[in-house]
Amino acid sequence: MRSWGRHLCLLFALLAVAPAVFPCIGSKCVVLARSKFRLPFPEPCSAGKKEHWDYHENGPSTWGETYSTCNGNLQSPVMLNIEDASRSPGWLLQLGDIDIKFHNYDSAATGVFSNNGHSVNLDFNFTNIITHPRVSISSPTASGVYYLQSLHFHWQSEHWIDHENYPLEMHMVHKDSTGEQILVIGYVFVPCERRLGRLFFSRSMAGMDEVAEAVEHLADVGDTMSFTLAPQRVMPSNLRACGYFAYTGSLTTPPCTEGVTWLVREAPMCVEERQLEAFYNVRDARNLPMAGNARPLQPINGRTVLFLTC
Ligand SMILES: [Zn+2]
Repeated sequence: MRSWGRHLCLLFALLAVAPAVFPCIGSKCVVLARSKFRLPFPEPCSAGKKEHWDYHENGPSTWGETYSTCNGNLQSPVMLNIEDASRSPGWLLQLGDIDIKFHNYDSAATGVFSNNGHSVNLDFNFTNIITHPRVSISSPTASGVYYLQSLHFHWQSEHWIDHENYPLEMHMVHKDSTGEQILVIGYVFVPCERRLGRLFFSRSMAGMDEVAEAVEHLADVGDTMSFTLAPQRVMPSNLRACGYFAYTGSLTTPPCTEGVTWLVREAPMCVEERQLEAFYNVRDARNLPMAGNARPLQPINGRTVLFLTC
């Protein structure tokens, strides 16, 4: 049964037009002064509800007992292979047919970076709708604009790409203006020191050093810090929306909400060994390394996977 705390939190979120908003940081709802341009996104709330899920005793195979959607047919992560995408109906869609654009990822914002027991999560606080980083999608069948809310990491990747698993995956969570439609951009990372075919990565993206330095301060559950980042500093330098898989899936953590639009870049970025170390030193509620915070692959169940060509 849902607790009253959760009901109240949802109510407050719906009342975001009031002089304050009640975002959730970790499992707590807090009151913040509402800035003039803050968008009234309802935030997912878990106030008053203890989260009984993890990657161990209460691991992914048990999540469906409490969160029934986790047993659904449209779950994430999935295996993303070029040859499977090419067998999907409509895989030949070009950018002319489905227009996806990334806007304003060079805008910096300060947010709260925290260890929530499941990951390290940066909640952005963009205050100007004009410069808010966003993805716009228009196609013959669907269109939408999704605003960046937060980013977090899984160390072991959740998605497998072309039959490979990676040591790190970053998820950039976006919501539309109603707060109900979710889009996540996923990037996987290989060690910069590793050769991958003919590619050789020598340096990580400029912002990864700053992120890793911050993660060093988030070793224990509940650790938080203020952090300023222009998202493009941890994204590929070429922000054209091509070279991405696109499919419909879910959140990869409870409540496993379905109907999430996923854009996952096929080509990995790179992370340096010393940056990975910062993630490996993060601990969970058991005070043990959080490494392995990745949900296993879920069945594709006949879903179409598109590959957006350049
Ligand atoms: Zn994630």
